[in-house]
Amino acid sequence: MNENIVKRNALLATKVIKGLESRNMSGYYCADKEEALKKALELIPEGSSVTMGGCMSAHEIGLVQALKEGNYDFIDRDAYEDKRAAMLAAYDADFFLSSANAITEDGVMINIDGNSNRVSAIAQGPKKVLFIVGMNKVCSDIDGAMKRARNVAAPINAQRFGLSTPCAKTGSCFDCKSPDTICCQFLMTRFSRHKDRIHVILVGDNLGF
Ligand code: SF4
Repeated sequence: MNENIVKRNALLATKVIKGLESRNMSGYYCADKEEALKKALELIPEGSSVTMGGCMSAHEIGLVQALKEGNYDFIDRDAYEDKRAAMLAAYDADFFLSSANAITEDGVMINIDGNSNRVSAIAQGPKKVLFIVGMNKVCSDIDGAMKRARNVAAPINAQRFGLSTPCAKTGSCFDCKSPDTICCQFLMTRFSRHKDRIHVILVGDNLGF
């Protein structure tokens, strides 16, 4: 990555981490995927039960593979035939892994969800939530974060899942009420009442979408 982008990411991350701390959440900056994996494994003690929503970023830094191969109780929702049982197991996990559709420079995270298992587990349930967030998700303010979530993340996710939504066909949001819409619930995480529950690893590489 260009050295000026690296410098900019590190500086901006300092601001985001300060914002997270003001909201009772912990933030860390890792310059690349390798550092991010190391940090995540430092934060998750061996023996922990770990589950996740659809978090591409955790895959991209190699965390999912490391958890599956290591001494962890990885709750693999894809292995459950009973999807409701998988969702209920997630609420009782030690760690829930997620990314954010967008994060503001002052530490507010925005997530959109169709099934809503991801946003509900972020809000309540798992003992800790570990976010893996590429610096490409940082937006200047809440308005920018909402626009990113709806015009970048949601259309790509709709395409990824082969959904019949206007954004999947055009690449931007039409505020649809399509039966396939993935914009059912919007979660704005602006403060954690429980200190040490929400941890955010910001990564200097581009992750997810
Ligand atoms: S509201 Fe509809 S068109 Fe807009 S991003 Fe969500 S699914 Fe796509």
